[in-house]
Amino acid sequence: MFSRAASFGATAVAKVEKVAVSRWSTDPLIRGAMAVGTPGAGAGRRAFAEPVGRLTLAGEYTSLDGWGTLAGAFASGEIAAERAIRVTGGPA
Ligand SMILES: Cc1cc2nc3c(=O)[nH]c(=O)nc-3n(C[C@H](O)[C@H](O)[C@H](O)COP(=O)(O)OP(=O)(O)OC[C@H]3O[C@@H](n4cnc5c(N)ncnc54)[C@H](O)[C@@H]3O)c2cc1C
Repeated sequence: MFSRAASFGATAVAKVEKVAVSRWSTDPLIRGAMAVGTPGAGAGRRAFAEPVGRLTLAGEYTSLDGWGTLAGAFASGEIAAERAIRVTGGPA
């Protein structure tokens, strides 16, 4: 079972004043949507991460180690932006 004290330390937990819990599956604006590859298909993300000519995709689904996360999406955006700068020679 998850323990805040074990994860963050008792000192940090003692400083928490207010807690909000998300219920993604019952939130009418979210409805719990999440796309996940089938078991064994994760390596297919590599194909999404490969540029095709001048086209480079960015998004969490292109990340091999950060798929499904904001961190993966952010990192993929940086990689795509760097490629775009390289391919186009940068801003005019
Ligand atoms: C309920 C839920 C909870 C989550 N919780 C966490 C969490 O706690 N921590 C975490 O790290 N990650 C979490 N995630 C995952 C995280 O939100 C995603 O991994 C991340 O937002 C993906 O970013 P992205 O830029 O790849 O895609 P998106 O954020 O989906 O951005 C894609 C954008 O493209 C736009 N778009 C789509 N089609 C078109 C089109 N044809 N033309 C123009 N625009 C278009 C969309 O409107 C959208 O704005 C959660 C996801 C969900 C659904």
